[in-house]
Amino acid sequence: MSISVDVLFQVTYGLYIVTAESEGKINGCLINTLCQVNSEPPTFQVILNKLNLTHEYIAKSGRFGVSILDQNVPFEFLGRFGFRSGRQTEKIDHTITLLRSPEGVPIVGNYALSYLSCEVFKTVDVDTHTLFIGKLLSAEPLSSGIPLTYTYYREVKKGKTARNAPTYVSLEKTPSTFQEASMAKYMCNVCGYVYDPALGDPDSGVAAGTPFESLPDTWVCPVCGVGKDQFSKM
Ligand code: FE
Repeated sequence: MSISVDVLFQVTYGLYIVTAESEGKINGCLINTLCQVNSEPPTFQVILNKLNLTHEYIAKSGRFGVSILDQNVPFEFLGRFGFRSGRQTEKIDHTITLLRSPEGVPIVGNYALSYLSCEVFKTVDVDTHTLFIGKLLSAEPLSSGIPLTYTYYREVKKGKTARNAPTYVSLEKTPSTFQEASMAKYMCNVCGYVYDPALGDPDSGVAAGTPFESLPDTWVCPVCGVGKDQFSKM
């Protein structure tokens, strides 16, 4: 049996934030597994890793929301939902524009072109993941733009695949199209974030022109939160 990873990456997907609420707590995560199943009545599927907190909330509440993301969404925003767990960090904080569908399903409004709200009527156990099939309750546009695709995320934003995603491949190839710079860039092994010394990390108080080697040991990846030891020179 021969499986080429390159073939797997030719399958196209969109990228979305799926949200759910349980016992007053809301969580969301980045998925590439939204798919319309049929149209009369309209139903949609999402597939989530059983380890994800959002999986737990969907299973308990029987409802989920989906935000269709603008391709101009910042990488750091995707990192919050794609590489951090709601068990460790509060993903839905004051920076999040939390919307509600008419049925009360929570929706992340930031960088969302539109939303879907669904009620689960069938689940399929797929070993490490669960496929949730939901009846569409409501769907409305929120802003205009181009929907983010997985290909755009990987090719333009240089994003990697979260470990819990069904499309995660443990031997990901390092993107090779970055250009050499006078000061070395470093890439996060976990999420693919690139530290560019020419830009620094102003959000974390690191000025432009700061070499990676001069970053304090307390500095962490602004996308996924791992330490400097998880970075590789490019
Ligand atoms: Fe990272």
